[in-house]
Amino acid sequence: MHSSWANTSISMDTGSETKPLIGKVEAAALDRQPVCVVPSSSYDLRPSKWRDVSAEAWASYDWQWQNRVMTCDDLLEITPLSEDERRAIETFSRTFSLCVSPHYVALLRLESGDSHPIRRQCIPTMAETEVIDCLMDDPLGEARHHYSGCGTRRYPDRALVYTTHACAMRCRHCTRRCKVGRMEQPTHASVMKTIDDICADTRIRDVLLSGGDALSLSNDEIEAMLGRLRACPHIDVIRLCTRMPCTLPQRMNDDVLLQTLARYAPIYVNTQFNHPLEATDESAKALQLLRKAGCVIGNQSVLLRGVNENPKDHEALNRWLLRNGCRPYYLFLCDVAQGTYHFRTPIQTGFEIMAHLRGRLSGLGIPHYVVDLPDGMGKVDLAPGLVHCDSNIVHFRNWFGADVSYPDVFV
Ligand code: SF4
Repeated sequence: MHSSWANTSISMDTGSETKPLIGKVEAAALDRQPVCVVPSSSYDLRPSKWRDVSAEAWASYDWQWQNRVMTCDDLLEITPLSEDERRAIETFSRTFSLCVSPHYVALLRLESGDSHPIRRQCIPTMAETEVIDCLMDDPLGEARHHYSGCGTRRYPDRALVYTTHACAMRCRHCTRRCKVGRMEQPTHASVMKTIDDICADTRIRDVLLSGGDALSLSNDEIEAMLGRLRACPHIDVIRLCTRMPCTLPQRMNDDVLLQTLARYAPIYVNTQFNHPLEATDESAKALQLLRKAGCVIGNQSVLLRGVNENPKDHEALNRWLLRNGCRPYYLFLCDVAQGTYHFRTPIQTGFEIMAHLRGRLSGLGIPHYVVDLPDGMGKVDLAPGLVHCDSNIVHFRNWFGADVSYPDVFV
Protein backbone atom coordinates (compact mmCIF):
# COMPACT_ATOMS: atom_id res chain seq x y z
CA MET A 1 0.00 0.00 0.00
CA HIS A 2 2.98 2.26 0.42
CA SER A 3 3.39 2.24 -3.34
CA SER A 4 0.20 4.27 -3.59
CA TRP A 5 1.62 6.97 -1.36
CA ALA A 6 2.70 9.11 -4.28
CA ASN A 7 -0.90 9.17 -5.40
CA THR A 8 -2.29 9.99 -1.97
CA SER A 9 -4.64 12.93 -2.15
CA ILE A 10 -3.25 16.13 -0.78
CA SER A 11 -6.75 17.36 -0.15
CA MET A 12 -8.50 17.51 3.18
CA ASP A 13 -11.86 15.78 3.04
CA THR A 14 -14.32 17.99 4.88
CA GLY A 15 -17.47 16.06 4.05
CA SER A 16 -19.21 17.24 0.91
CA GLU A 17 -16.55 19.78 0.17
CA THR A 18 -12.92 19.04 -0.67
CA LYS A 19 -10.63 21.74 0.55
CA PRO A 20 -7.14 21.85 -0.91
CA LEU A 21 -4.48 21.56 1.79
CA ILE A 22 -1.52 22.81 -0.11
CA GLY A 23 -3.51 25.23 -2.17
CA LYS A 24 -2.33 26.45 -5.45
CA VAL A 25 0.77 28.40 -4.65
CA GLU A 26 0.73 31.02 -7.30
CA ALA A 27 4.14 31.84 -8.62
CA ALA A 28 4.08 35.57 -8.19
CA ALA A 29 5.06 37.61 -11.19
CA LEU A 30 8.77 38.22 -11.02
CA ASP A 31 9.24 41.62 -9.51
CA ARG A 32 11.80 43.81 -11.06
CA GLN A 33 12.95 45.30 -7.78
CA PRO A 34 16.25 43.71 -6.72
CA VAL A 35 16.00 42.12 -3.27
CA CYS A 36 19.23 42.68 -1.41
CA VAL A 37 20.79 43.17 1.96
CA VAL A 38 21.70 46.67 3.13
CA PRO A 39 25.28 46.34 4.43
CA SER A 40 25.65 47.07 8.13
CA SER A 41 28.28 46.72 10.80
CA SER A 42 27.34 45.92 14.39
CA TYR A 43 30.25 48.09 15.51
CA ASP A 44 28.76 51.10 13.75
CA LEU A 45 25.37 50.26 15.29
CA ARG A 46 26.69 49.74 18.83
CA PRO A 47 24.53 51.23 21.58
CA SER A 48 25.75 54.36 23.40
CA LYS A 49 26.59 52.16 26.41
CA TRP A 50 29.57 50.91 24.38
CA ARG A 51 30.33 54.19 22.58
CA ASP A 52 33.93 54.22 23.87
CA VAL A 53 34.70 50.59 23.09
CA SER A 54 37.44 50.36 20.47
CA ALA A 55 37.01 48.50 17.17
CA GLU A 56 39.69 46.07 18.37
CA ALA A 57 37.79 45.25 21.56
CA TRP A 58 34.51 44.89 19.64
CA ALA A 59 36.23 42.45 17.26
CA SER A 60 37.48 40.34 20.16
CA TYR A 61 35.68 37.11 21.01
CA ASP A 62 36.62 37.40 24.68
CA TRP A 63 35.23 40.93 24.95
CA GLN A 64 31.99 39.94 23.24
CA TRP A 65 31.55 36.84 25.40
CA GLN A 66 32.30 38.65 28.67
CA ASN A 67 29.94 41.51 27.87
CA ARG A 68 26.90 39.44 26.97
CA VAL A 69 23.68 41.06 28.13
CA MET A 70 22.11 38.89 30.81
CA THR A 71 19.97 41.11 33.03
CA CYS A 72 17.00 43.39 32.70
CA ASP A 73 19.05 46.38 33.90
CA ASP A 74 21.76 45.74 31.28
CA LEU A 75 19.17 45.48 28.54
CA LEU A 76 17.37 48.64 29.68
CA GLU A 77 20.57 50.57 28.96
CA ILE A 78 20.16 49.49 25.34
CA THR A 79 16.45 49.42 24.59
CA PRO A 80 13.15 50.22 26.33
CA LEU A 81 11.29 47.10 27.45
CA SER A 82 7.60 46.35 27.58
CA GLU A 83 6.04 45.20 30.84
CA ASP A 84 5.61 41.76 29.28
CA GLU A 85 9.32 41.55 28.40
CA ARG A 86 10.38 42.66 31.90
CA ARG A 87 8.17 40.02 33.51
CA ALA A 88 9.48 37.37 31.13
CA ILE A 89 13.13 38.23 31.81
CA GLU A 90 12.44 37.85 35.54
CA THR A 91 10.37 34.68 35.03
CA PHE A 92 13.12 32.95 33.03
CA SER A 93 16.05 34.29 35.06
CA ARG A 94 16.75 30.93 36.66
CA THR A 95 15.84 28.71 33.71
CA PHE A 96 16.23 29.70 30.05
CA SER A 97 17.48 33.17 30.93
CA LEU A 98 18.19 36.22 28.81
CA CYS A 99 21.60 36.02 27.16
CA VAL A 100 22.61 37.97 24.05
CA SER A 101 25.95 39.14 22.69
CA PRO A 102 26.73 42.84 22.18
CA HIS A 103 27.07 42.12 18.46
CA TYR A 104 23.56 40.72 18.18
CA VAL A 105 21.83 43.18 20.50
CA ALA A 106 23.30 46.05 18.48
CA LEU A 107 21.17 44.90 15.53
CA LEU A 108 18.02 46.01 17.38
CA ARG A 109 18.73 49.45 15.91
CA LEU A 110 18.02 48.14 12.42
CA GLU A 111 14.42 47.24 13.24
CA SER A 112 11.55 49.48 12.27
CA GLY A 113 7.77 49.31 12.02
CA ASP A 114 5.89 46.22 13.15
CA SER A 115 8.60 43.74 12.26
CA HIS A 116 10.90 42.62 15.09
CA PRO A 117 13.04 39.79 13.74
CA ILE A 118 15.94 40.53 16.10
CA ARG A 119 13.96 41.35 19.21
CA ARG A 120 11.75 38.27 18.96
CA GLN A 121 14.75 35.98 18.68
CA CYS A 122 16.68 37.33 21.66
CA ILE A 123 14.30 38.92 24.22
CA PRO A 124 11.90 36.64 26.14
CA THR A 125 8.17 37.25 26.28
CA MET A 126 5.51 35.76 28.53
CA ALA A 127 4.22 33.79 25.54
CA GLU A 128 7.01 31.35 26.38
CA THR A 129 5.18 30.34 29.54
CA GLU A 130 2.19 29.07 27.56
CA VAL A 131 1.95 25.28 27.93
CA ILE A 132 0.43 23.56 24.90
CA ASP A 133 -0.57 19.88 25.01
CA CYS A 134 0.95 18.87 21.68
CA LEU A 135 4.33 20.49 22.38
CA MET A 136 7.17 18.73 24.20
CA ASP A 137 10.20 19.46 26.39
CA ASP A 138 12.24 17.01 24.30
CA PRO A 139 10.67 17.43 20.86
CA LEU A 140 13.23 15.35 18.99
CA GLY A 141 13.25 12.42 21.40
CA GLU A 142 16.91 12.94 22.18
CA ALA A 143 16.67 11.18 25.54
CA ARG A 144 14.88 8.21 23.99
CA HIS A 145 17.58 7.89 21.34
CA HIS A 146 20.40 8.41 23.82
CA TYR A 147 23.81 7.13 22.71
CA SER A 148 26.79 6.64 24.99
CA GLY A 149 27.28 9.41 27.63
CA CYS A 150 26.63 12.63 25.67
CA GLY A 151 25.15 11.53 22.38
CA THR A 152 22.03 10.79 20.39
CA ARG A 153 21.71 8.35 17.49
CA ARG A 154 18.55 8.64 15.43
CA TYR A 155 19.82 7.30 12.10
CA PRO A 156 21.90 4.17 11.51
CA ASP A 157 25.05 5.90 10.28
CA ARG A 158 24.99 9.12 12.31
CA ALA A 159 25.61 10.24 15.88
CA LEU A 160 25.18 13.64 17.46
CA VAL A 161 27.35 14.68 20.41
CA TYR A 162 26.26 17.28 22.98
CA THR A 163 29.63 18.89 23.44
CA THR A 164 28.36 21.75 25.62
CA HIS A 165 25.15 23.42 26.78
CA ALA A 166 26.60 26.93 26.38
CA CYS A 167 25.79 29.40 23.58
CA ALA A 168 26.67 32.97 22.70
CA MET A 169 22.96 33.74 22.74
CA ARG A 170 19.88 31.98 24.10
CA CYS A 171 17.61 32.00 21.06
CA ARG A 172 14.04 32.21 22.27
CA HIS A 173 12.90 29.62 19.72
CA CYS A 174 15.56 27.07 20.72
CA THR A 175 14.56 23.42 20.37
CA ARG A 176 16.95 22.52 23.16
CA ARG A 177 15.78 25.24 25.53
CA CYS A 178 15.39 22.63 28.29
CA LYS A 179 19.12 21.94 28.10
CA VAL A 180 20.86 25.12 26.94
CA GLY A 181 22.12 27.16 29.85
CA ARG A 182 20.23 25.01 32.36
CA MET A 183 21.72 21.57 32.52
CA GLU A 184 25.04 20.85 34.07
CA GLN A 185 27.78 21.15 31.48
CA PRO A 186 29.11 17.87 30.12
CA THR A 187 32.74 17.48 31.17
CA HIS A 188 35.41 17.32 28.51
CA ALA A 189 36.20 13.79 29.69
CA SER A 190 32.59 12.66 29.20
CA VAL A 191 32.46 14.20 25.71
CA MET A 192 35.71 12.47 24.77
CA LYS A 193 34.38 9.18 26.13
CA THR A 194 31.39 9.47 23.77
CA ILE A 195 33.72 10.26 20.89
CA ASP A 196 35.79 7.19 21.79
CA ASP A 197 32.62 5.08 21.73
CA ILE A 198 31.80 6.47 18.28
CA CYS A 199 35.30 5.65 17.08
CA ALA A 200 34.78 2.08 18.26
CA ASP A 201 31.41 1.79 16.49
CA THR A 202 31.93 1.08 12.80
CA ARG A 203 28.25 1.67 12.01
CA ILE A 204 28.79 5.41 12.40
CA ARG A 205 30.09 7.34 9.41
CA ASP A 206 28.88 10.87 10.13
CA VAL A 207 29.28 12.79 13.42
CA LEU A 208 27.66 16.08 14.48
CA LEU A 209 29.46 18.07 17.14
CA SER A 210 26.51 19.97 18.53
CA GLY A 211 25.35 21.53 21.76
CA GLY A 212 24.60 24.29 22.68
CA ASP A 213 27.18 25.85 20.41
CA ALA A 214 30.25 23.77 19.68
CA LEU A 215 32.39 26.87 19.03
CA SER A 216 31.84 28.01 22.62
CA LEU A 217 34.35 25.32 23.63
CA SER A 218 38.04 26.16 23.96
CA ASN A 219 40.37 25.72 21.00
CA ASP A 220 42.09 22.87 22.86
CA GLU A 221 38.81 21.02 23.35
CA ILE A 222 37.88 21.49 19.69
CA GLU A 223 41.32 20.28 18.64
CA ALA A 224 40.98 17.15 20.81
CA MET A 225 37.55 16.24 19.37
CA LEU A 226 38.47 16.85 15.74
CA GLY A 227 41.83 15.10 16.04
CA ARG A 228 40.26 11.98 17.51
CA LEU A 229 37.47 11.82 14.93
CA ARG A 230 39.68 12.53 11.93
CA ALA A 231 42.00 9.70 12.95
CA CYS A 232 39.08 7.27 12.87
CA PRO A 233 38.99 5.47 9.49
CA HIS A 234 35.22 4.88 9.34
CA ILE A 235 34.20 8.51 9.97
CA ASP A 236 33.57 10.17 6.59
CA VAL A 237 31.86 13.35 7.71
CA ILE A 238 32.52 15.66 10.67
CA ARG A 239 29.90 18.33 11.19
CA LEU A 240 30.09 21.19 13.63
CA CYS A 241 26.95 23.04 14.72
CA THR A 242 27.34 26.69 15.64
CA ARG A 243 25.22 29.82 15.47
CA MET A 244 28.24 32.03 16.15
CA PRO A 245 28.73 33.19 12.55
CA CYS A 246 25.40 34.96 13.15
CA THR A 247 25.29 35.67 16.90
CA LEU A 248 28.97 36.21 17.73
CA PRO A 249 30.96 36.25 14.50
CA GLN A 250 34.00 37.65 16.32
CA ARG A 251 34.74 34.02 17.31
CA MET A 252 36.17 33.56 13.83
CA ASN A 253 38.78 36.29 14.39
CA ASP A 254 40.81 33.69 16.28
CA ASP A 255 43.68 32.40 14.13
CA VAL A 256 44.25 29.37 16.36
CA LEU A 257 40.65 28.24 15.87
CA LEU A 258 40.90 28.69 12.10
CA GLN A 259 44.19 26.77 11.94
CA THR A 260 42.59 23.95 13.94
CA LEU A 261 39.61 23.75 11.59
CA ALA A 262 41.93 23.87 8.55
CA ARG A 263 44.05 21.02 9.92
CA TYR A 264 41.06 18.68 9.88
CA ALA A 265 39.35 19.95 6.72
CA PRO A 266 36.78 19.51 5.43
CA ILE A 267 34.67 20.34 8.48
CA TYR A 268 31.00 20.80 7.56
CA VAL A 269 29.78 23.81 9.54
CA ASN A 270 26.02 24.09 10.12
CA THR A 271 24.98 27.57 11.12
CA GLN A 272 21.70 29.46 11.50
CA PHE A 273 20.79 32.82 9.98
CA ASN A 274 17.07 33.57 9.95
CA HIS A 275 16.69 37.11 8.63
CA PRO A 276 18.58 39.52 6.35
CA LEU A 277 19.05 41.99 9.23
CA GLU A 278 21.53 39.43 10.60
CA ALA A 279 23.65 39.78 7.46
CA THR A 280 26.29 42.08 8.90
CA ASP A 281 29.80 42.89 7.72
CA GLU A 282 31.12 40.98 10.73
CA SER A 283 29.14 37.87 9.78
CA ALA A 284 30.22 38.10 6.12
CA LYS A 285 33.84 38.18 7.29
CA ALA A 286 33.27 35.21 9.63
CA LEU A 287 31.83 33.12 6.79
CA GLN A 288 34.71 34.04 4.52
CA LEU A 289 37.26 33.09 7.19
CA LEU A 290 35.59 29.73 7.76
CA ARG A 291 35.61 29.08 4.05
CA LYS A 292 39.30 29.96 3.81
CA ALA A 293 39.89 27.44 6.61
CA GLY A 294 38.44 24.77 4.33
CA CYS A 295 35.02 24.55 5.97
CA VAL A 296 31.94 23.72 3.93
CA ILE A 297 29.21 25.93 5.33
CA GLY A 298 25.45 25.33 5.26
CA ASN A 299 22.70 27.47 6.71
CA GLN A 300 19.76 26.02 8.62
CA SER A 301 17.05 28.67 8.88
CA VAL A 302 14.08 28.16 11.16
CA LEU A 303 10.69 29.40 9.98
CA LEU A 304 9.44 31.67 12.77
CA ARG A 305 6.23 33.64 13.13
CA GLY A 306 6.91 37.34 13.45
CA VAL A 307 10.49 36.87 12.28
CA ASN A 308 10.76 35.55 8.76
CA GLU A 309 7.38 34.76 7.21
CA ASN A 310 8.01 37.12 4.30
CA PRO A 311 9.38 35.22 1.26
CA LYS A 312 11.41 38.26 0.19
CA ASP A 313 13.40 38.08 3.42
CA HIS A 314 14.47 34.53 2.53
CA GLU A 315 15.39 35.60 -0.97
CA ALA A 316 17.56 38.46 0.30
CA LEU A 317 19.16 36.30 2.99
CA ASN A 318 19.90 33.41 0.66
CA ARG A 319 21.44 35.66 -1.98
CA TRP A 320 23.71 37.12 0.69
CA LEU A 321 24.61 33.67 2.03
CA LEU A 322 25.58 32.43 -1.42
CA ARG A 323 27.69 35.51 -2.03
CA ASN A 324 29.58 34.62 1.13
CA GLY A 325 30.05 30.93 0.36
CA CYS A 326 27.31 29.55 2.58
CA ARG A 327 24.73 27.25 1.01
CA PRO A 328 21.10 27.57 2.18
CA TYR A 329 20.69 23.98 3.35
CA TYR A 330 17.50 23.65 5.40
CA LEU A 331 14.40 25.68 6.08
CA PHE A 332 13.04 24.03 9.23
CA LEU A 333 9.48 24.15 10.36
CA CYS A 334 9.74 25.27 14.00
CA ASP A 335 10.04 22.13 16.16
CA VAL A 336 7.26 21.16 18.57
CA ALA A 337 9.25 22.51 21.53
CA GLN A 338 7.31 23.59 24.60
CA GLY A 339 7.53 27.39 25.04
CA THR A 340 7.72 28.13 21.32
CA TYR A 341 4.09 27.97 20.26
CA HIS A 342 4.04 31.69 19.45
CA PHE A 343 6.79 31.10 16.87
CA ARG A 344 4.98 28.36 15.00
CA THR A 345 3.62 28.97 11.52
CA PRO A 346 1.28 26.94 9.34
CA ILE A 347 3.12 24.55 7.04
CA GLN A 348 1.58 26.47 4.16
CA THR A 349 3.73 29.53 4.97
CA GLY A 350 6.84 27.56 4.06
CA PHE A 351 5.31 26.35 0.80
CA GLU A 352 4.75 29.95 -0.21
CA ILE A 353 8.35 30.83 0.65
CA MET A 354 9.65 27.86 -1.34
CA ALA A 355 7.51 28.77 -4.34
CA HIS A 356 8.85 32.33 -4.20
CA LEU A 357 12.46 31.12 -4.03
CA ARG A 358 12.01 28.56 -6.79
CA GLY A 359 10.99 31.28 -9.19
CA ARG A 360 13.89 33.57 -8.37
CA LEU A 361 17.01 31.67 -7.31
CA SER A 362 18.86 28.77 -8.84
CA GLY A 363 18.87 25.46 -6.99
CA LEU A 364 21.95 26.62 -5.10
CA GLY A 365 19.85 29.13 -3.20
CA ILE A 366 16.92 26.85 -2.42
CA PRO A 367 17.01 24.98 0.89
CA HIS A 368 15.22 21.74 1.71
CA TYR A 369 12.01 22.61 3.52
CA VAL A 370 11.78 19.99 6.27
CA VAL A 371 10.04 19.03 9.46
CA ASP A 372 11.97 17.19 12.16
CA LEU A 373 9.30 14.79 13.38
CA PRO A 374 8.56 14.51 17.09
CA ASP A 375 10.07 11.77 19.20
CA GLY A 376 13.13 11.32 17.01
CA MET A 377 11.23 9.95 14.02
CA GLY A 378 13.54 11.86 11.69
CA LYS A 379 13.41 14.57 9.06
CA VAL A 380 10.90 14.59 6.23
CA ASP A 381 11.00 16.87 3.22
CA LEU A 382 7.93 19.02 3.11
CA ALA A 383 6.65 18.70 -0.40
CA PRO A 384 3.03 18.49 -1.53
CA GLY A 385 3.31 14.88 -2.67
CA LEU A 386 4.34 13.68 0.78
CA VAL A 387 1.55 15.18 2.86
CA HIS A 388 -2.11 14.63 3.51
CA CYS A 389 -4.29 15.99 6.22
CA ASP A 390 -7.23 15.12 8.52
CA SER A 391 -8.59 18.25 10.11
CA ASN A 392 -5.44 19.87 11.59
CA ILE A 393 -3.51 16.59 11.77
CA VAL A 394 -0.99 16.10 8.96
CA HIS A 395 0.28 12.63 8.11
CA PHE A 396 3.85 12.09 7.00
CA ARG A 397 5.78 9.11 5.73
CA ASN A 398 9.23 9.29 7.33
CA TRP A 399 12.61 8.19 6.03
CA PHE A 400 12.13 4.54 7.00
CA GLY A 401 8.49 4.20 5.95
CA ALA A 402 6.70 4.81 9.26
CA ASP A 403 3.49 6.85 9.19
CA VAL A 404 3.60 9.70 11.69
CA SER A 405 0.86 12.16 12.67
CA TYR A 406 1.80 15.77 13.24
CA PRO A 407 -0.27 18.69 14.59
CA ASP A 408 -0.49 21.61 12.15
CA VAL A 409 -1.43 25.15 13.21
CA PHE A 410 -5.03 26.18 12.56
CA VAL A 411 -5.28 28.81 9.85
S1 SF4 B 1 22.60 28.85 19.38
FE1 SF4 B 1 21.39 27.02 18.85
S2 SF4 B 1 21.46 25.71 20.68
FE2 SF4 B 1 22.08 27.79 21.30
S3 SF4 B 1 20.19 28.77 22.01
FE3 SF4 B 1 20.45 29.30 19.84
S4 SF4 B 1 19.27 27.75 18.74
FE4 SF4 B 1 19.61 26.96 20.83
